[in-house]
Order: sequence, then C-alpha cells, then structure tokens
Amino acid sequence: MTPLEALKRYFGYDSFRPGQGEIVNAILTGRDALAVMPTGAGKSLCYQVSALLLPGITLVISPLISLMQDQVKALNNAGIRAAFINSSLSEAQIDKALTLAAEGSYKLLYVAPERLESSAFRSFAAAAELSMITVDEAHCISQWGQDFRPSYLKILAFVDSLPRRPILSAFTATATRAVQEDIRCTLRLQDPKVLVTGFDRPNLYFQVEATRRKDDFVLQYLRDHPGESGIIYCATRKNVDKLQELLTEAGFAAAKYHAGLTAEARRTNQNDFIYDKAPVIVATNAFGMGIDKSNVRFVLHYNMPSSMENYYQEAGRAGRDGLPAQCVLLFSAQDVIINKFLLERRENPDLEEEDAALLYQRDLQRLQVMEQYCRTTACLRNTILTYFGEHPTAPCGSCGSCNNVYEQADLTDAAKRMINCVAELRGRFGKAVVFGTLQGANRARLRELGAPGLKSYGTLQALPRDTLDRLLAQLLEDGYLVQTDDQYAVLRLGDITPLKEGAQVLVRLPPRQEPERTVPKPQNRSIMDSLTGAGLALFAELRALRLEIAQSEGLPPYVVFGDKSLADMCLRAPRSVEGMIGVYGMGERKYEKYAARFFAVIEAYRAAHPDAVLSLALPAAEPAPAEGETPRKAAKGPKAAFSLTEETAGQFRYGDAYTGAELKAALAEAGGPGMKAPTIKAIEAWLLEQRLIAMEKLPTSGFYYVPTPAGVDAGLRSAERVSARGTPYAVLQYTPPVQRMIVEHFIVK
Ligand code: ADP
Ligand code: MG
Repeated sequence: MTPLEALKRYFGYDSFRPGQGEIVNAILTGRDALAVMPTGAGKSLCYQVSALLLPGITLVISPLISLMQDQVKALNNAGIRAAFINSSLSEAQIDKALTLAAEGSYKLLYVAPERLESSAFRSFAAAAELSMITVDEAHCISQWGQDFRPSYLKILAFVDSLPRRPILSAFTATATRAVQEDIRCTLRLQDPKVLVTGFDRPNLYFQVEATRRKDDFVLQYLRDHPGESGIIYCATRKNVDKLQELLTEAGFAAAKYHAGLTAEARRTNQNDFIYDKAPVIVATNAFGMGIDKSNVRFVLHYNMPSSMENYYQEAGRAGRDGLPAQCVLLFSAQDVIINKFLLERRENPDLEEEDAALLYQRDLQRLQVMEQYCRTTACLRNTILTYFGEHPTAPCGSCGSCNNVYEQADLTDAAKRMINCVAELRGRFGKAVVFGTLQGANRARLRELGAPGLKSYGTLQALPRDTLDRLLAQLLEDGYLVQTDDQYAVLRLGDITPLKEGAQVLVRLPPRQEPERTVPKPQNRSIMDSLTGAGLALFAELRALRLEIAQSEGLPPYVVFGDKSLADMCLRAPRSVEGMIGVYGMGERKYEKYAARFFAVIEAYRAAHPDAVLSLALPAAEPAPAEGETPRKAAKGPKAAFSLTEETAGQFRYGDAYTGAELKAALAEAGGPGMKAPTIKAIEAWLLEQRLIAMEKLPTSGFYYVPTPAGVDAGLRSAERVSARGTPYAVLQYTPPVQRMIVEHFIVK
C-alpha cells in the first residue's frame, strides 16, 4: 500500500495537503521529522498514515486525555486499530491494553507523557516492536512555549531506555524559531526532515470589533448565526459565568467551561459541546487544547487575549474542516488596562528577580503586539502572518480591515435629531420606536403612541437604516444616549453637554459603492455555496441522520462525517450506493458502515422532489423546467420597450457580479434617459426561455430562480440568502459573459 492508497482507503481523501506527503515519505525512509503546521492543517494525519505503513507500533505522546480519546474514536471508526492508555482507565484496563498492544493488536497507541515512567509500561516498551515515537503538541516541551509541560522532558530518557531507537517525529502548531530549536534539541532529533508550512488559514475570516457593548454584540451575533457551533473565549471565570447565564436566559443553548468547575461538570459541558447538544460554549483559555471539533464556525473573543500566540491558537480552532469560519475579537480599551494590571500584579515566587523582570518584559511586549492588532487598520491577516515571520505581499481582501474601508462622516445634525427624538419620547421606548419615528413610518403602534404628532417624526427619513444603526452605536459609545440592560433595551438621554458645547459626531460609514471593489476572494468560496435551497434541505436531512447515528454509537457527529462530506453527498447526489465511493472523507470502513443509510436519504429526497436542482456545480441530471411551470413568456427582444443600438451597447458598463437590480441599472444607463428601463422580470423570462435558469419552489407559495448547468456555463451564479423566517433561497448573479449575452439580446439592428 502506498501512502496515497492508505489515505484514500482509510480516510477517504484523494490527495495530501501541502507538506503532508513530504513528512510521510521522510518518515517511511526512516528519518526523524519535525513538522510545524498551523492548527487544522492535518498534522495528525501525517503520523497516522505513516503508522499504518510502518511495521510495528507507533507510540503517540499526547498531552491531554480528551485529545487521545477523540483521536482513538475517530481512528477506530475509520477501521484503524488504535488504543489509548491514560489515567481515565483502571489498572486492569491498562494491563489488558498493554497485553493486546504487546500482541500486536494496535497500530497506534496513545499515551500521556507521565506514563513513560511507569515500570510496567517500560517493560512493555522494551519488548514491543516500536517503529516510531510521535510527540504531538511538541511545543509543550519548550519552556519558551505557553504550554510548557515538565513531563514532556521525560520523553528523552524514555527513548534512551529503549533497546532500539525508533523513528522520532514531532508535531506542533507553534511557529517561533526559539520553540522549534527547543524541540529539536530537547528531543535530540537526528537529521530530521523539518517542514514549516505557511501559517495562513485562508478559510478563516478575521475581524476586530471595537465596542464596549459586548453583550449586545454577542447576542446579535448568535441571532445572526442560528444553530452554528462556536466558542466564546472570556478572560476570566467570572465573565464566563455571567455571559453563559445571559445567553442561556436569552434562549441559546450554551455550555460553559473553566477551571473553577468540577471535573465532572467540565466533562459534561465539553461533551455537550462536542456532541452538538450545546452548539456554543463560553470558556476561559483552559478550554480547547485537543478539541478536534471540526465544524466550529466561529470563535469570538470577548476579551483581548494576552498574546498573539494564544490568539492564533484559540482562533484557529474555528474551521478545521476547511469551510469558511469567522474569528471576531471584541476589543475595548479596558481590556488593555486589565491585562497590564494582571501582569504587574503577577507573582513569580520561583523565579530569580532578574528572570522575573525578563519574563515581565516579554509578556508586556506580547500584550503590545495584541493591542496593535486590535487597533490596526491594516490587513488583519497580514498582521498575524507578519508576526509569525511571514512576508505577505498584498492585503488579503477577506478580513475586517480589508472589507471595511470606512469613511468618517460628520453626522452631528442627524445626531441631534436622534437625541431630540429620544427626549420627545421621554426615554420610554427602544430602538424600534425611535427609528420608526425618525423615519416617519406608518405603523399602528406609532400612531397609538402619538408619534406622528412629534417634531422629530420623519426628520431622518432620508437616512438608510444601516446608517441609523451606526449612528445609534456611536451615540451610545460617546455616552450621549444610554440603553437599559433589560430585555426592553429602552433608550434614554445620557450626558449631552459636549454636544451643546459644539462637539461633532463622527460616524464610520462604509464608502458609497465605488466602482472598483476590494480584491475578490475566490478562495473563500465553499462547497456549501454550490448547494441550492433544495441542496441545503437535503443537507439538513443528512445532518439529522448523522446525529442519529452519532448518538446511537456514542461518537461525536463529525467523527461519523464532517459537514464537507455531507455537502459533497448533496453535490454528487449519486444514483446508486456505489456512487457514494468517491465522496469526500468516505474511506472503506465508513463506506461499509454508513454509505447505504446516507444513500437511502438521498434517494428518498429525490423521490419526493423529482425536479429539485440540488447544486450548481455538477450537472448531474438535465434539470429541464417542468412543463406548464414556465411563467408567461415575455416579449422577445425586438418587441421589448427597452432596446439598445450597437452604439449604446458599447456604453454598457460591465461589472464583476451584478445582482438583477444592478444589471437593470447598468442597462438603463447605457440605454440613455429617453429609454424605458427593462424589467428584471423580462430578463428572467428570457433566461428561462433560453433554459439558462430554472425555478426552485419555496415551502411557502414563493419561488426563486437558480442557473441550470447551461446557465452556469453562460456565467450565471447563484448567491445564498436566508429569508426573515429562516428559509434558505438564492438570488441570481450575473457575471460579465452573461451580461454581454443579455446586452446582445437587447440590441436592435
Ligand atoms: P492538526 O492536528 O494539524 O490540527 P488534524 O490532523 O486534526 O489537524 O486535521 C484537521 C482536519 O483536516 C481533520 O478533520 C482531518 O481529517 C482533515 N484532513 C487532514 N488531512 C487531510 C487531507 N489530506 N485531505 C482532506 N482532509 C484532511
Ligand atoms: Mg493535532
């Protein structure tokens, strides 16, 4: 079996990720190896595939019990013989595991470093055929790292005690040179293959939110990301308790984790999170090492962490499955003050004064780096990568800084109106009534309150809702208005003296649509993007099956299949069980165990929705729109009221992905003022006639259009949206080739 065959057969993946193949090949030629790769890059796979191909046993030294248990479960489920030995087992269980290991029953054996000292274990190791010793999370060996474990220092003595030196391989995500050197020296690696891959995690979106109203931000964030799994890190146990309570009261299933809880509570809460019972966990930095949950969609930091090393490691727990994920840091100047305070107060009784002073300087510097990250307007991703020694050239185009090129707008006038409105309403109502009044909305509730009789009624009619939101946030930030903490979130006057004395209110607004956009970011397109509304519905059914299986087998859902595998099933929607073979992450064992059940769901879905177009990526079937469903035919080009000449067509301004409305506007502009604008409906009707789009029905009476495979070829795209009621649908997007086609359609010769 070659490494690639093993990868396919056991893990169901077609190719190695960058660096993996090199490490495996080096190990298989008998060389030591040191791999520095970011979290989620696939370090475990490097030694697991190697272990499968080496003759005897591979011993994996791993710092955390939960980490071992998870990995062993996942390996067993992939049909690989593996076991762990740690303090969660009884003596009898340990004896049994060692006996089985000695008989060659396992390819991989996971142990905690403390175990290496036990005499029973040493005599087992001396007699067994140990091919490789792998040190996972190898930065734990370095005093320079943040997770130094003294017990890691015992690994070397253990290796020396063996009759024959096995291959040594070490893996870590911590980048700095000092740590790498430490690992090499302390483990005495012999001419190791050293591999340091790039630190970028392209699927992570970085953002910093400067806000003092963090609770509101978190609540709104969770409302905007229903059902998604995420971690919220807080600096202190107290914050964890408070925030978790707040979220629970607001109706979110959120678990909590910190060192102040009993071991039992921590285990339960962690499992609730891993098994998706509580999709969100609020935790201190005690949580996370060894958490392999692959579908974490966001990591929020409620407080600024104390170093970039910590931040990147914690944030890096998002998006291990490679799908887009967000890392948002909530920053307030208070965080810096508290961190400095803690640093100054820290006592290091074991350290010489000089060392303590050095340590203090180092940590202060780390804090400053973090603060710079929070305050920078430069590309956030590049700020991180530069810190870790890389030299990125262009801004990434997909982080909070790159996407929010703000303009400062002077909204002092509007601010006064908003404040007057709050005063007129006597500080008794929340945002909905205040905004409704300012916009002059015609609502029964407002009439009931007598709002139309107020002076401020309708005075900010011209401002878009989004600007009102930003203005309000600024007024709260400046203290001109205050909002109550209760569920009514009533707006009241704050201290408006500075405003009376002539202070300005500056609000950061996104720039008005400029023709040139920031760098497009194709790398962030995910496999999920190709699923239509129907595809997403099938995805949900597959997820339900996954949960059912996970529960009955006592496995975390992602050990059964990752989200990406389920999405791939929807994309391929095979017509036979055998068609499931190529699915992402479908190894032989999983195929035998699960393929038929997942296939049955796909088939049932198709039977119930024979016309459904599941995805836009693979032209699985000819999705001709059903007869009789076609709406009224629109008038053909020449008869349409709107038309272009060769000349006016030349004026058409092409843009990279227009919505229907943008396309319509661009057409109208090219046509000139004397021309009636074309309707989007007419454009869609023509596309339908050309079989470039097809209709998707919503569960309600509505429908929307998605491109057919021919439409995709022609340049039509589909962008996912979710309705206010939570129903997914899609809108059409028009790229230049199809813009050209439509322009030509309207030309009258
Ligand atoms: P690390 O130990 O570097 O943090 P893991 O080994 O836990 O990362 O891998 C992270 C995820 O990536 C896992 O879900 C794993 O199955 C997946 N993965 C690893 N290698 C590959 C590969 N070559 N192709 C596809 N997925 C992979
Ligand atoms: Mg790992």
